[in-house]
Amino acid sequence: NKQVALKNYVTGFPKESDMQIITTNTIKLRVPEGTKDAVLVKNLYLSCDPYMRECMSAGDGGFSSFELGKPLTGYGVAKILDSTHPNYKKGDLAWGFTGWEEYSLIVSPRILIKIEHTDVPLSYYTGILGMPGMTAYAGFYEICTPKKGEYVYISAASGAVGQIVGQFAKLLGCYVVGSAGSKEKVDLLKNKFGFDEAFNYKEEPDLTAALKRYFPEGIDIYFENVGGKMLDAVLANMRNLGRIAACGMISQYNLEKHEGVHNLTLIVWKQIRMQGFLAGSYYHLYPKFLEMVLPYIKQGKIVYVEDKAEGLESGPTSLLSLFTGQNVGKKLLVVARE
Ligand code: NDP
Repeated sequence: NKQVALKNYVTGFPKESDMQIITTNTIKLRVPEGTKDAVLVKNLYLSCDPYMRECMSAGDGGFSSFELGKPLTGYGVAKILDSTHPNYKKGDLAWGFTGWEEYSLIVSPRILIKIEHTDVPLSYYTGILGMPGMTAYAGFYEICTPKKGEYVYISAASGAVGQIVGQFAKLLGCYVVGSAGSKEKVDLLKNKFGFDEAFNYKEEPDLTAALKRYFPEGIDIYFENVGGKMLDAVLANMRNLGRIAACGMISQYNLEKHEGVHNLTLIVWKQIRMQGFLAGSYYHLYPKFLEMVLPYIKQGKIVYVEDKAEGLESGPTSLLSLFTGQNVGKKLLVVARE
């Protein structure tokens, strides 16, 4: 059973050598005798997610740390090979929490959702039909309380979550601008995802001035993926009664000391509502979400760009690519085909 394991806890920017590929003895592809509520799965796709960086630290963040020498844990799509769980039988497909390894024994699954619709790419359940999709849905509709015609700004806009938020906002009739870190990503935003405008934040010496150019009348909604200097520039450009969905702050995850934000007072003067949220608190809305998003995908009204890497061996590089911006779209590992 090939696995990707954490070798040592990380401070600062993670390196490939902080992880290792290990192979354990062959395992029986059955749930051990007497183990209740368990499934033995074959992992098909594994999701690379920025929050995993928090789990690579020794602790005290909001997430529990990975165990050294054990496979990383994360979201994935898997096929059930054996089950003592009442909701699953051999041959079922599911997405949820699994291990970065070929086969995983999952006892009393924390998050495992059966896949009922297979007329869409199965890998989408690591992205638009899985956790990132729920993040975009909960963050945009529940936290931002958007209205038609509002001015929406999204940072890290071409990524797993951002590309969906932008398309939701366009479908609602908002004016949507996204930022990303390369020309290729900016082209995707404008030409594939239908954003009204997009810019490369790395080429803007003054982010406040850049946002002023794209939003002369100010921003109603900011979908925050980046934090730091970007948040400061956005606060300076927010309109009164604006809303900020604090989804993530990836620019801070590898810093030993987080940057300060200087414009927080503007939250008071402009009566801005800023709320953090975690997708996992909204999974009860998953059926409602699927009902909305599946037809959009099938009708081509929402498109989704994935960035697939082959094999567990590419796990460490793939995970790190999220923090250099080398991923283009939803980063995932193809571990096995059905
Ligand atoms: P992406 O697919 O967007 O990949 C991460 C991207 O972040 C990179 O491609 C890069 O894009 C950008 N980035 C990396 N480092 C920096 C930096 N220092 N400054 C600015 N941008 C940077 O990832 P996701 O869509 O999965 O995640 C996006 C955000 O959403 C993250 O902050 C993540 O933590 C958060 N999240 C929150 C969830 C929740 O439940 N609240 C759930 C899922 C994700 P670029 O080339 O544009 O710089």
